[in-house]
Order: sequence, then structure tokens, then C-alpha cells
Amino acid sequence: MAIEKILFATSEAHPLIKTGGLADVSGSLPAALNALDKDVRIILPAYRTVLDSCRDWKPIAHFELPNVNEPVRLLEGQLPGTTVLTWLVDIPSLFDREGGPYHDANGLDWSDNAQRFTAFCRAIEAIACAQIVPDWQPDIVHCNDWQTGLAAALLSQHGERPGTVFTIHNLAYQGLYPASTFAELQLTENFWSMHALEFHDQLSMIKGGLVFADMLSTVSPTYAREIQTPDFGCGLEALLRHRQDRLLGILNGADYEAWNPLKDPYIEHPYDANKLAGKAQNKAALQTAFALAKKPRTAVIGMISRLAEQKGFDLLLEALPGIMKKNVQLVILGSGDKKIEQGLRDASASYPGKIGLQIGYDEALSHRIEAGADIFLMPSRYEPCGLNQIYSLRYGTIPVVHRTGGLADTVVDLTPISQANHTANGFVFDEANASDLRAAVFRALECYRQKNVWRELVAQAMAVDFSWNSSARRYLDLYRIAYELSH
Ligand code: ADP
Repeated sequence: MAIEKILFATSEAHPLIKTGGLADVSGSLPAALNALDKDVRIILPAYRTVLDSCRDWKPIAHFELPNVNEPVRLLEGQLPGTTVLTWLVDIPSLFDREGGPYHDANGLDWSDNAQRFTAFCRAIEAIACAQIVPDWQPDIVHCNDWQTGLAAALLSQHGERPGTVFTIHNLAYQGLYPASTFAELQLTENFWSMHALEFHDQLSMIKGGLVFADMLSTVSPTYAREIQTPDFGCGLEALLRHRQDRLLGILNGADYEAWNPLKDPYIEHPYDANKLAGKAQNKAALQTAFALAKKPRTAVIGMISRLAEQKGFDLLLEALPGIMKKNVQLVILGSGDKKIEQGLRDASASYPGKIGLQIGYDEALSHRIEAGADIFLMPSRYEPCGLNQIYSLRYGTIPVVHRTGGLADTVVDLTPISQANHTANGFVFDEANASDLRAAVFRALECYRQKNVWRELVAQAMAVDFSWNSSARRYLDLYRIAYELSH
């Protein structure tokens, strides 16, 4: 049976609300499926910023949910810049508040996150069973990360139901809550088992997806293998090994409409592989913006990232004294962990005129860094897929990455062989330690001085294709399998 109707459940979707790569995927995969003539609808909580982003949200249903003390509305609109229908679950007491989707203004988790995302999942369940919009029942519910994990568990209790797919965008975020929260949520008792939602006497929202979804996927083939091992499995490796025949790694695609150096509205000087002059001009503009000396032959290394332990900033800080001795400038945009922020501030003060640092979240600046930098650094300890190295390739900004997850699947290290067969597009180091990182940066800087080699590397990077074309079709295959398993 051909899959036609897909309910895409997510807690963030670019450009409506974004904290990381999940939003990029949620904003672009549904559009890619739409382009394959599928009827995809995104379902998202009605956060205040999303409600405020446009006036056109129209109520299409009013309903009640267990354990929610106010009427719930389903609002309909379109994902801006696409024709993808988007539904918002409007529960003002849970979602209409100042702050981020998961955290308050101080960066602390909302204390009622378990209640918020349980309510969201109950709404997904009801919609998936055609109880709210009777003339539209999905063939597939595609859940993403722990915030939507319970939806797969709740749906598993229904006889007639859509197939369910659960995608792991980052296994380290699990939605863990005390046992007392399980009781408060009024979930059926049989979910309290190590074979269901219990995880070492805690409630694990992600297990709702991992245990109950018909099919599982994660965002790169390497990460799919890694999460079955103790080093990357976050305690869930045995469960994932148990379900390995249901687990697929599908590399994220990039939205090449939004990330195209020839059409990027955020950059001053458009360019492509045949006309690279614009890239040099964007570099000069970036150096100026960060008050760095405007030196065309000094390599600019860029970084754009959530500041989280995962991203390997400790390795960078350890490697920095060696790197800073070279003819190099470093430009960093990021926000998150306060300790990492402080570490970067201290580093930037120690090397005046060599490090440009902006703490914060800035979509426009992230595009300007991709366009203006020569090298892009991602020393992540683990990286389920990673999108910035893919954007970097497109922008001719050569990635230097740790060999893990999606970084290993997208960046081809420059070696004599990859140079000879013209497949190299970056620099990859094997171990997550400061000396390997430093050595890889040194290799990149050495290569940067050899104009012809660098030019070829840039051309090869810009030629690789990580658009959604093939990955969207792989999701359709996954949906078909999930549907068959559920019927
Ligand atoms: P993760 O999902 O772990 O944060 P990804 O590489 O998959 O990592 O996706 C990160 C996305 O968030 C990219 O689109 C990146 O450009 C963006 N991003 C991260 N930090 C910032 C920031 N401070 N300002 C602007 N964009 C950011």
C-alpha cells in the first residue's frame, strides 16, 4: 500500500521555532515529502512565539484531553515559506508563555515539561485516531525525539491505528522524570515496566518511542551503529540492539533553498563554485563584523553551535594555545552552557584580535559565518548527524571534524588516496582529544597555504549533494514498512 498521509509530530520546526537540528529537519523533510506528492501535516505545540509569528492561525477543532483542565484548540496554518499544512495544539496554560520550548529565560527546564509533552502526545494520539479531524486519518505518525515518544506508546494501545515511526535525533535527551510523575500523568499502569516506560525506576519518555514505535530511525548510519554500544547508547544500548532489525540510519538532508550561497538573503556577496570572488568578500565582511584584521590570507575558522558538552569545546580550549600560534582567526557563535560560555569569553580575552566571539542565537550571523569562514570546526564528542558540516560543504567552507556519527558519514578526510580519486572534502580526526584536534587543524592550515590543493578541495566540497532527494525517499520506504507492521 502506498503511504499518502503522514502526521509529522515534532516539538520544533524551522522557521517557527528552533533550538537545533531537529527544527531544521522538521522544517525541511515534510516539504520534501510534499514535493513527492505526500499529504504531510506537521503537528507542533502552540508556543507563544509561534502564535505571535503570524496572525493566520485558524481554529479548526475544539476538544478535551485527559488531565488537561482547559479546552484545547487545534489551529491550522502553513509552515512559512512552504505549502506544508501545520497544526498547533493550543493549550495556553502549558505552551503560551514567555521563554523557550523546553526552558525558561534562565535556561532551566520548565518544571511541568512532563505534563506539557504528555498533553501534546495525547493530542497527537487523538488526531491520529481521527477523533479530532474526522475526515483526515494519517497512514503514518512520524514522532521525533522524547517529546513525542509517548505518542507511539499511547497509539500502540489502539487496535486500528496508523503505523508509527520514531526518529532519534539525539539519544542523550531522554525526558526522564521521577516515578511520582508517572502517577500524576495518569498513564495506564502496564506502562510502568522495564519493558515499557520505566528506566531504572524513572519514567523515560523516549522509551515510549524506542519500545513501542513500529519502526525506529536515527539521523545517520554511523550513529545507528554507535547507539547500540555502551559508549554512545546512554544506557539504552541493549534495548536498541534488541530492536536493531527495526532501526535504520537515514542521513539528514539539508534544505538547499535556505542554504545556498548563490541565493542566501543573509549574505552580502552571493557566490557559487564557479564564481568564488564573493566568498572572499564575505570573508572580509566577517572579519570586519568581528573586529578582526582584514587579512585575506589569514585562515578564518568558524564555529556555530549550541554550547553543550557534546560539542567538544573543552577539546578546543585545550588545543587553543597551539592553534593560536598559527596565522589564523577564530569566529564563534553559540549559546547554552554558562561554563562553556565563560571558557570561551576567557579564551577570547587571552587572544585579542584573534578570536571573534558572539554569545547568542543569530540565524543571519550563522549564514554569514558559513559564507565568510575558510574552515569550519566541529570537534563533537558525538554527533547524531550534524548539519553545519553539511552547510559548510555547500558554502565551500572546509570542515574539520571528529570521526563520529553523521560527521563520519559526510566528511571525507584528505588523504593521498582521497586526493587522488577526487573525493576529499575536509579533515577528519579519529580520537576526541586535543592533540588529534590540533593536528587536524594544522593539516587544514597547511593545505590552506597550497592554493591549488585548497581550490580543488573547495570545489569537491561544493559539489557533494546532501539535499533531501534521496533521504526523503528512504523515509517513504521506512513508512511503508512501519505501516505493514502495524496492520
Ligand atoms: P544540534 O541539533 O545538536 O544543535 P545540528 O548541527 O544538527 O546540531 O544543528 C544545529 C542547527 O542549529 C544548525 O542549523 C545551526 O546553524 C543552528 N545553530 C546552533 N547554534 C546556533 C546559534 N547560536 N545561532 C544560530 N544558529 C545556531
